[in-house]
Amino acid sequence: MAKRDFYEILGVSKDASESEIKKAYRQKALKYHPDKNPDDKQAEENFKEAAEAYEVLSNKEKRSRYDRFGHAGVGGAAGGGGYHHMSMDDIFSQFGDIFGGAFGGGGGFSNFGGGFSSGGQRRRRVNRGSNLRVKVKLSLKEIAHGVEKKIKVHKYIECTSCKGSSAKEGSSYTSCHTCHGSGQVTQVTNTFLGQMQTTSTCPTCGGQGQTIANKCQVCAGDGIVRGNEVISINIPAGVEDGMQLSVSGKGNAAARGGIAGDLIVLIEEEQHESLERDGMNLLHEAYISFPDAALGSVIDVPTIDGKARVKIALGTQGGKVLRLKGKGLPSVNSYGHGDLLVNVNVWTPKNLSREEKEMLERMKNSENFKPNPSARDKSFFSKMKDYFNN
Ligand SMILES: [Zn+2]
Ligand SMILES: [Zn+2]
Repeated sequence: MAKRDFYEILGVSKDASESEIKKAYRQKALKYHPDKNPDDKQAEENFKEAAEAYEVLSNKEKRSRYDRFGHAGVGGAAGGGGYHHMSMDDIFSQFGDIFGGAFGGGGGFSNFGGGFSSGGQRRRRVNRGSNLRVKVKLSLKEIAHGVEKKIKVHKYIECTSCKGSSAKEGSSYTSCHTCHGSGQVTQVTNTFLGQMQTTSTCPTCGGQGQTIANKCQVCAGDGIVRGNEVISINIPAGVEDGMQLSVSGKGNAAARGGIAGDLIVLIEEEQHESLERDGMNLLHEAYISFPDAALGSVIDVPTIDGKARVKIALGTQGGKVLRLKGKGLPSVNSYGHGDLLVNVNVWTPKNLSREEKEMLERMKNSENFKPNPSARDKSFFSKMKDYFNN
C-alpha cells in the first residue's frame, strides 16, 4: 500500500495556508488522540499519519520539496503502508503544544496518574535533621518514680558562628535566581500519553528559595557542625525495658536552618539485686526459718524505697504469697499501681549438729509435725490461679 497524500490525510487543498494546515492537523490529532481512543490500533495509525503529514506540510522547505518530488522528496519513498518514521514520543515532543487545553488538567498538561501538580502551588522544601538514637539505663527506683536524665550527645548542632543561617556575617540572603524563591523547578516532559509537568527541588538553592552571597566559613554554609549537647530527658515513671521515648527536636540539627530531627531514647532496665519485675508488680523471694514459720515472726522485705517490715503469722506455710499493696510500680500510661508480691519459702537446714538432730528426732513423732494439707488455707495451685487472675 502506497503512502497517502499528505494533503489528503489532513483534508486540505494544495494551496492551504499555514494556519489552515495547523488547524486541520489539530482536528485530526484530537480526533485520533490516544486518550480518546484507548487501545485502538487504527486510531494510533491515523494519529501518526496525521503527525507525519503535518511535520512535512508545516515546514516551508519540506513542503516545497514534497510538492515537487512527492514522498521521495522528504525521505519517505520506500515506505509501505503502516510505516511511520515518527514515534508517539516524537509526536508529543514536537507537536504537543498544539493540543492546547483539550487534554488533562490545566495549561495543556496531562494529569495522568494523579501524581502531577497542576501548577500554581508553591512548596518550599524544608530541611530536616535525622533522628538520633540513644540508650538510657535506669534502675528500678528511677523507673518507679520517673527521673530526669542529663545525657551528653555527640551530634549535628547549629553552627554558632552563623547561628544556623549559613551566611557569613554581614552577608545577606537573596531570592534564588533559578527558582525565583519558590524552591522548586518545573519541567515539562513529553511522554507517550502527552505532556506532563513534573516539579522537583531547585538544584541551585537546594529548595531553600534563597541563596547567600558569602557562605559562613565555619560550617561551609551548612549551618550545622558536629558538636556535643547535654540534653535533659524527662523519663516518666513506669517505663519498661525496650520502650522508646521520642524527644522532639533534639536529634541532629538540620542544614540551613531547617527542622531538627528527634532524639529517640531506648530504655534499658538495670537488674535489681533482690526484686524482679513482672509488669507493674514486683516479685521477691523471701526465706524464713522453720522456727519463724512455726512461731510467727517479723521479717524485712526489700522494696524500691528501702525495707518494709512484714509480719509472718504463726504457722505460715512455705509457698505462701504475701501481697504488699501499692509497693509495685506505677503504670506508665494510667493511674494504676502494682503490688509487691512476696513468696515465702521455709528454709530447710542442710547441716545439723548432733544436738539439733536429737531435737528434731523428738519432734518427728509428735502428731503436730505431721503434714496435714487439708488444714492449709488454700492449695498452692488455687493460690497461683488467684494470683494471675488478679
Ligand atoms: Zn556557620
Ligand atoms: Zn532555587
